[in-house]
Amino acid sequence: MSTAIAIAGVRKTYGRTIALHGIDLAIHQGEFFGLLGPNGAGKSTLINIIAGLVRMDAGSVSVMGYDTVRQFREARRRLGVVPQELVFDPFFTVRDMLRIQAGYYGCGREVWPWIDEMLERLDLAGKATSSMRALSGGMKRRVLIAQALVHRPPVVILDEPTAGVDVELRRTLWAFMTELHRQGTTVVLTTHYLEEAQELCGRIAILDHGALQVVETTAQLLARH
Ligand code: ADP
Ligand code: ADP
Repeated sequence: MSTAIAIAGVRKTYGRTIALHGIDLAIHQGEFFGLLGPNGAGKSTLINIIAGLVRMDAGSVSVMGYDTVRQFREARRRLGVVPQELVFDPFFTVRDMLRIQAGYYGCGREVWPWIDEMLERLDLAGKATSSMRALSGGMKRRVLIAQALVHRPPVVILDEPTAGVDVELRRTLWAFMTELHRQGTTVVLTTHYLEEAQELCGRIAILDHGALQVVETTAQLLARH
């Protein structure tokens, strides 16, 4: 099985806080992987290290075989990260924002049909020419998901995409993530909801106080507790 994300001996401290203690983990290509853990466990730090946005103190990470430090651009091009926070320019339209983001990755018109397809699947088809400030919170969240995927990355990390969303939107997001996975994308999901991990993920890991506690199937985890 080929590895989508290879994490070896990753350590990170902030002053006296050990955010990550030597993390080792291999996420396989085509997996739907869940990363669970309480607030402060180190999930955001680990995601930011995988994305090459936070410097690790020791260890290495590669995405689709590209080292996230030495081959940052190659690795980053193969990764989409959906952040928790809703950050965007309120005056851009949805379509402009997505096309501009595609441009950052060197993608041109060839991805425009894909952008329209994502808007369709995320129930945003009628909003392509709306400005971001006119959208509801749930719509903004969906646009940021589309934004992370404009360059059709083979690996996607979604950081708590369903936190605080209503049941209907949660169902839309579950269907969207399931379809991405079905089409061959490696999906990594962080969530606070165990039932969500159980529903969607093949394997899950529990991060607690900067250490990876469990890597096994959701069924095994539930049998244990
Ligand atoms: P999460 O929802 O992942 O728990 P946090 O609220 O812990 O998010 O963190 C939000 C942002 O603030 C992250 O970028 C994180 O790296 C940063 N952060 C978290 N804790 C601290 C801290 N003690 N000092 C400075 N920055 C922090
Ligand atoms: P999670 O995403 O699981 O909530 P984080 O990765 O945000 O966890 O945080 C892990 C630990 O590192 C926490 O103790 C947090 O306060 C600390 N931390 C995270 N980012 C920073 C930062 N920029 N400066 C100082 N401490 C931080």
